[in-house]
Amino acid sequence: MYDILIVGGGTAGLTAAIYARRAGRSVLVLEGTGFGGQITSSPLVENYPGLPAVSGLDYSDALLAQAKALGAETRFGRVESAGREGDHFVLTARKKTFEGRALILCTGAKHRKLGVDREEELVGRGVSYCAVCDGAFFKDKDTAVVGGGDSALQSALFLSQVARSVTLIHRRGEFRAQEAYVTAAKEKENITFLMDSRVTELIGEEALTAIGVEEKSGKGRKLPVEGLFVEVGQEPDNGAFAGLTDLDEGGYFTAGEDCRTKTPGVFVAGDCRAKELRQLTTAAADGSVAATAACRWLDGQ
Ligand code: NAP
Repeated sequence: MYDILIVGGGTAGLTAAIYARRAGRSVLVLEGTGFGGQITSSPLVENYPGLPAVSGLDYSDALLAQAKALGAETRFGRVESAGREGDHFVLTARKKTFEGRALILCTGAKHRKLGVDREEELVGRGVSYCAVCDGAFFKDKDTAVVGGGDSALQSALFLSQVARSVTLIHRRGEFRAQEAYVTAAKEKENITFLMDSRVTELIGEEALTAIGVEEKSGKGRKLPVEGLFVEVGQEPDNGAFAGLTDLDEGGYFTAGEDCRTKTPGVFVAGDCRAKELRQLTTAAADGSVAATAACRWLDGQ
């Protein structure tokens, strides 16, 4: 029986683990795919206070090491079910059961799919959701990135150092990404912008060879690319916890800035929570708030 079970080993979950351990609580962090979370895909993080330039991987490695050094236990396992038994919570992952007196859910969000035919079939054969992970496969090749947020711009910038060309395709005329990234991308000679455009088709037998792109005007074209990087945002994946606490219409946990849910003993932190700004800074803030709230709640038990 742990004092606190934390689901998700990204910035929010590992920060919660650090705070809970420093408060003397026993902690288990369960992670389904890879510790570090989404930021591990970011080549360069330049907006975390005190760290003017750090790679997402270096940052998350340091965060995991910090949590472990403080005594947080960590384990791989995607939580399949979550419930309450008497005065504690029970999670199952990889056919194992884990018990804790309080629960902090830091499940983050997963890559949103583009929703174009054959997208799934071509993953690993031209379609990718992570430029840092897969960019090296496209050395001196023509590539495209879809999306207009920080991730899309960052991916385009990263790929521009490896690929021969990068076409950035965005469905609107304006980016939502930070201005600094847009300016940097405009300065790159091998990045071309295709605004007000959508990817409509993925072409290629064994692997991607081209994509169909349609402009707002309806004009279509075929763009020869071997790599398509989909960076169209994230969506939550909180279904396993729907019976435990409330989700909003988008599937995010309903909780305020205090990270408390309507269920006593259940706290939520990071991108999985309904909130205005999803950043490393806000994930770290949530992790500390949720852990402190969980410790106080345990004190009152
Ligand atoms: P995001 O900010 O939600 O941007 C998603 C982009 O994809 C938007 O431009 C959106 O278009 C577009 N899009 C959504 N669905 C689409 C579809 N079906 N087809 C085509 N385009 C579609 O997502 P993100 O860039 O992954 O960033 C997520 C969060 O992480 C943000 O808060 C971001 O600031 C943060 N982040 C921070 C850093 C950093 O350096 N600190 C790095 C990466 C991410 P519209 O603009 O038209 O809606």
